[in-house]
Amino acid sequence: MCDLKSQTLPELTETLRAMGEPAFRGRQVFTWLHKGVKSYEEMRNLPGSLREKLKSRYPLAVPQAVRKQISRLDGTVKYLWELADGNCIESVFMRYRHGNTVCISSQVGCRMGCAFCASTIAGKVRDLTPSEMLDQVLFTQLDVGETVSNIVLMGIGEPLDNLDAVLRFLELVNHPDGMNIGMRHISLSTCGLVPGIRRLAELQLQLTLSVSLHAPDRETRSKIMPVNRAYDVDELFDACHDYFQKTGRRISFEYAVIDGVNDHDWQADLIARKLKGMPGHINLIPLNDVAESPLRPSRRLAAFQKRLEHHGLTATVRRSLGGDIDASCGQLRRKAMEEAQKGEDSQ
Ligand code: SAH
Repeated sequence: MCDLKSQTLPELTETLRAMGEPAFRGRQVFTWLHKGVKSYEEMRNLPGSLREKLKSRYPLAVPQAVRKQISRLDGTVKYLWELADGNCIESVFMRYRHGNTVCISSQVGCRMGCAFCASTIAGKVRDLTPSEMLDQVLFTQLDVGETVSNIVLMGIGEPLDNLDAVLRFLELVNHPDGMNIGMRHISLSTCGLVPGIRRLAELQLQLTLSVSLHAPDRETRSKIMPVNRAYDVDELFDACHDYFQKTGRRISFEYAVIDGVNDHDWQADLIARKLKGMPGHINLIPLNDVAESPLRPSRRLAAFQKRLEHHGLTATVRRSLGGDIDASCGQLRRKAMEEAQKGEDSQ
């Protein structure tokens, strides 16, 4: 792999050993890379000749913040990063009582096709590399100037559709010589790729798994989430039960409440029935209006929440941050793409 920042510490140590360097150089380079240096020149404790060699063999890519929006309401910061190949992705920095959190993207675009989501409108362009995920955390932290303590994989893309790279990213960001962010401070959100959930269960990671449920019945879920035609909601619930059995970790279920689509009492009752035996937490999300979609926010969110609670479930309504800056998934990238398109059209 010629992307040094995606290498684990043992791999990096081996890369440098193969270049005739002593073993300790691996850790030195790893530490610098994970501090977010922008060039090899900054690696002051390396000999000049080695810095030159690294520079010519392993070009160091650094994402550029091409747009940055700061919410006047709550200080949330949204970044549009341009990657080395010109593609753009988004990250969002949020201040919560439990710590500063960065929401990162895992792919350029998404191929899951959810009807309410802006990230998937133009499909998937490519997967992100582990270092491109790490860079979002690293350069957000450096730019904001505050320590990031939590990460959520809830930006653009489906993390379980890029699982190998995501697992490598987790290993990197968790490393004591790197950002050292504990697994318990990381959440991963999936639209329900069952094989990925089963693989995660085997790995017994301490992270928090979030599942985008959005409907408990086959008919509704298949309508708004095409992934349900590949992995049906009952198969998904089975995988969730097994995940809880294996890891003992409570799953968080995301539920964007859509007017007249998934906000009926019978659907709340069905959720309760299907979660029996597992301490689920339902995170109700007021639907963000996406201009391209006819779906609208539910007018009976409070009633739906009450119905879930009546069954003894924990149901919370997600506090929305950055309402003034297109802070939800994919909206900023989408806007930038449209503007670029308009620019081309008018030429
Ligand atoms: N692909 C992953 C992670 C990215 S989306 C997943 O599907 O979970 C992060 C969350 O935002 C998901 O729960 C997704 O369904 C939700 N989401 C997407 N568009 C939304 C919208 N317009 N309003 C509310 N939530 C939305």
